[in-house]
Amino acid sequence: MTLRNSYTMGNKSSSDTYPAFCWNDIKTVFLDMDGTLLDKYYDDYFWEHFVPEMYSRHHDLEPEETKKQLLKVYQSVEGTLQWTDLDYWSHRLELDIPMLKKEIIHLVNILPHVTDFLYFLKKRGKNIYLITNAHPKTLAIKMEKAQLSHLFTQSICSKEVGAAKEQPEFWEKLQTLLPYDSTTTFFADDTEKVLDSAAAYGISHLVHIAKPSTRLPATFSKKYLSVVNFKQCIVE
Ligand SMILES: [Mg+2]
Repeated sequence: MTLRNSYTMGNKSSSDTYPAFCWNDIKTVFLDMDGTLLDKYYDDYFWEHFVPEMYSRHHDLEPEETKKQLLKVYQSVEGTLQWTDLDYWSHRLELDIPMLKKEIIHLVNILPHVTDFLYFLKKRGKNIYLITNAHPKTLAIKMEKAQLSHLFTQSICSKEVGAAKEQPEFWEKLQTLLPYDSTTTFFADDTEKVLDSAAAYGISHLVHIAKPSTRLPATFSKKYLSVVNFKQCIVE
């Protein structure tokens, strides 16, 4: 019933710093997609390896130098809507980004315990929303493979809201699409900066996902309740 004690925050138990919370106090659940529901390895591989490779081939450039240059370009728009806009990247890189995304669709995988967690929430009558910075085209490609859409009341992309989740105005703007009470809302995300903006708005129950990629080791947040996966949140 109550989420407590077993979480690791850096080297100490979260219960040392954060109050436990009870699912009975939560009506609405917001869940990020990439790195929270789905393995972020897909995105890391796509942007760090696949796109540089395709770009260097298309423009006949040296692969390693191209990769370095592209990583700099990505960083310049990180945390903004441009970063997630496939049309922006298709135009800027002169590549068909949605088509390339589909080429590696086999790497879209659901993270461990996600499906059980979603059914746990459903059973408890929670309103579950997928809240993602991903572009609507990316959402469509990923859900075609993951087949999770039917478990959400609604899926909302930041593009519809008009701000990225990292931007403080996102949470106020979201109210116009989806009225919610921040004191009875649970939100899980793998990006600390996103949780910071949700915390600043007053969303009470925040969880950080410490292992967004199955290929990388867990990195725990020292600021938020930080879990390796949702198994730790399935508390009857
Ligand atoms: Mg994420």
